[in-house]
Amino acid sequence: KTETPYHYTEKSDAETIIRPRDKFSHKGTFGHALLIAGSYGKMGAAVLSGKACLRSGVGLLTMHLPSCGNDIIQISIPEAMALTDSDAKFITELPDLETYSAIGIGPGIGQNIMTAKMLETLLETAKVSVILDADALNLLSQNRALYDKLPENTILTPHPKEFQRLAGDSINEYDRLEIGRDFALKYKVIICLKGANTAVILPNGDVHFNSTGNPGMATGGTGDVLTGIITSLLAQKYSPAEAAILGVYQHGSAGDRAAEKKGQSALIASDVVDYLGW
Ligand code: AMP
Ligand code: MG
Repeated sequence: KTETPYHYTEKSDAETIIRPRDKFSHKGTFGHALLIAGSYGKMGAAVLSGKACLRSGVGLLTMHLPSCGNDIIQISIPEAMALTDSDAKFITELPDLETYSAIGIGPGIGQNIMTAKMLETLLETAKVSVILDADALNLLSQNRALYDKLPENTILTPHPKEFQRLAGDSINEYDRLEIGRDFALKYKVIICLKGANTAVILPNGDVHFNSTGNPGMATGGTGDVLTGIITSLLAQKYSPAEAAILGVYQHGSAGDRAAEKKGQSALIASDVVDYLGW
């Protein structure tokens, strides 16, 4: 065992986390995920995160959407249930959270003021694990009083720009990592600092660098796929640390299989979804 806080996630680590599916299991065994995603013009982000969530083993998926997204989701993801907001273009209301075992929020939601209020209510009322991504992170960074309301072990998945909005400027990548560690320790959250070798930073300051992934994944929508994967693992009751470390690993490894078949330049986020699974 090393004394440093730094770890490197390889195949054997991922395999240690994965639980095989019991022969007598049923869909209730694998949880019910809620994904809050999409706005007018950004329903693709909801589709990508929803498909990735289903491809990562969840028992049931419900998606809360602006009402313009109903037909889009029902047609493109027949396996998902759709709950529609009263607003056509944005998500303004928080659904009843009783039935869900994990909640993912952010892909394509935009930055409407009503969406910001809904996010605040979610953080105050959620009793299950939550992952925040994309515009949920941007809305959070616009209201820093919310940082103290983040439930313990909430997972945040910022790309470098979103992280800068959340935690401020850094002078180099090492500095950014240290700012991330301070943030994770202070607010007791998990931060996945995305990029090549995504760093999963735990609330105790440990850092798990990911070994999978490739530059073909630097394309729109791949982050939304990661949100779906991690939401799915949380719903299946992997611990937040396990869900973040394993989800980041599986996302990268699906991207590697996709790049092998398609080449890095041709790779799009939908391919990452298609190559999920071993
Ligand atoms: P987003 O910017 O939210 O769409 O997220 C982009 C996703 O692609 C993250 O999961 C990144 O880790 C991944 N990604 C982007 N660029 C690279 C790269 N050069 N190498 C490996 N993964 C990458
Ligand atoms: Mg993103």
